[in-house]
Amino acid sequence: MRYLPLAFDLKERPCLLVGGGGIATRKARLLHKAGARLLVLAPEISDELRQLVSDSGGEYFAARYRVDFLDGVDLVIAATADESVNAAVSADARARHLPVNAVDAPDLCTFTFPSVVERGPMAIGISSGGAAPVLARRIRAQLETLLSPGIGALAEMAARIRARVKAALPERERKDFWDWVFAGPVASQVEAGGIEAGEQTLLAQLAQWRGRPATRGEVYLVGGGPGDPDLLTFRALRLMQQADVVLYDRLVSPQVMELVRRDAERIYVGKKKEFHSVPQDDINQLLVDLAREGKKVLRLKGGDPFIFGRGGEEIDRIAAAGIPFQVVPGITAASGCASYAGIPLTHRDYSQSVRFITGHLKQGELKLPWRELAASGQTLVFYMGLTGLETICRQLIAHGLPADTPAALVEKGTTPEQRVVTGDLTSLPQRAVSEAVEAPALTIIGGVVSLHDKLAWYRTRH
Ligand code: SAH
Repeated sequence: MRYLPLAFDLKERPCLLVGGGGIATRKARLLHKAGARLLVLAPEISDELRQLVSDSGGEYFAARYRVDFLDGVDLVIAATADESVNAAVSADARARHLPVNAVDAPDLCTFTFPSVVERGPMAIGISSGGAAPVLARRIRAQLETLLSPGIGALAEMAARIRARVKAALPERERKDFWDWVFAGPVASQVEAGGIEAGEQTLLAQLAQWRGRPATRGEVYLVGGGPGDPDLLTFRALRLMQQADVVLYDRLVSPQVMELVRRDAERIYVGKKKEFHSVPQDDINQLLVDLAREGKKVLRLKGGDPFIFGRGGEEIDRIAAAGIPFQVVPGITAASGCASYAGIPLTHRDYSQSVRFITGHLKQGELKLPWRELAASGQTLVFYMGLTGLETICRQLIAHGLPADTPAALVEKGTTPEQRVVTGDLTSLPQRAVSEAVEAPALTIIGGVVSLHDKLAWYRTRH
């Protein structure tokens, strides 16, 4: 380690910036965030810098640099375009043992600015000691994706409550308590934006803390997207990385499962048509039981949990049992398949609305408002519609949709095996058979399907 990262308290401390251009402005932004009072010395300055100076309660001097400007300041930055001025500022500052940074001149610096990941009061500095600034920035970008934006709110809440925890618990129990706060339902609630809910969970637990938490278990109902792991949300990925046990089904792609924490127990609760390996009721109960054992339970679903995913029923049970939970949306099959197949779901020339419809047969029948569905100017997306495809196309034609309306099947959309089979309402059912299309497959019907040839960009088997 060539440079020691230190956390510098600059609140209301005067900091001198020599220079008024873009670089000076960037440094001023950082110093302002830390609460410093900005003293800026330059012949002219940008509007933003002028604003920062005034917001910080500082001062702007339209003057040339003189050594007496160093009087009484805590930190110095030389950011002029003139190297000789920067060198003079640096030499004077060092002579007074003032910390100084000169832009693009490591030899003139006694400190450097690390790349910073900021979450409220939490600040992470990454420094390569000048060896590889681009690498430091890449590491910063990686950390940005790993750390929830809500961590700042969590740290602020901890600061608000610290004194109460101190008063309520003996020292030997405090660390366990805070560990529970930062690794359990309080953290998930606050990070997901539920600051008040999180604080209530914390205070309730504090009142009855007996050396161990009474509630630790929680449930994450997470949308795993249609297959491509790149389509996961950051939050989905974070929760997948901290789960103790995961319940997943057939629609969750192996590539997405790869990203679940290695040590997490995996429970397959998949369903195949006509073959329910685990009845829904048992899944709901299992979620409750596992959370009551104190586990972080990840219920990972294909696509979005609230679109034909029975997510509502599962959460109903969990909420009734008083178990903390959160729901993370995912990219639903319609969005994923349509994008990857080059079929815009709406388009000014073809379609002004889009409908997501279940094509699931009940006792061999499909009871749907066919007349409405056959209206023109809309895109129809049928989920679970492979078995009923022939019925769907026949009914739509019978209710007035032209037989040559373009229609497509997207099989295993967004995965490397994606296949798109196109036709129209007359030909698609036959093509599904001759091409041996398998589940999961999505049916898209409407004028927008004609754009597929032009807009398809994703590698497909067809
Ligand atoms: N909650 C899921 C849908 C569950 S219903 C979501 O939001 O996507 C299951 C149906 O979704 C399947 O029968 C199929 O029609 C569709 N589906 C899911 N993933 C798919 C994929 N990768 N490619 C094509 N269709 C898919």
